[in-house]
Amino acid sequence: MKPVSITADKKRAHIAIRWDDGATVHYPFTFLSAACPCATCNEERNDTNPLKILKPKSDILAAITPVGSYAVNLAWQGGCRNGIYTWEMFEDLRKKHPEWTTWASIAPPKT
Ligand SMILES: [Zn+2]
Repeated sequence: MKPVSITADKKRAHIAIRWDDGATVHYPFTFLSAACPCATCNEERNDTNPLKILKPKSDILAAITPVGSYAVNLAWQGGCRNGIYTWEMFEDLRKKHPEWTTWASIAPPKT
């Protein structure tokens, strides 16, 4: 599947992706920021040291930048700026969180 459109809605704090099957999925900023897929954040999440200090996660999106035709880079204000979020990752999240999906009553235009 491929996104037809990606909209960052700062007011409602989510990213809305419309997929080519007509579904629109709303991905909450807080969730995406906590799930940052970059190496540093991955390491941080896997760190089992009980004395580690958890950095607060930012849920304010600073910038969204396309990366090729397969991903977007999401930069979080006061948080991580390195995460490359692939369509695959968004698709995976969509499957895990069916409650984020809404279906348009009007069929999307064919591309
Ligand atoms: Zn990160």
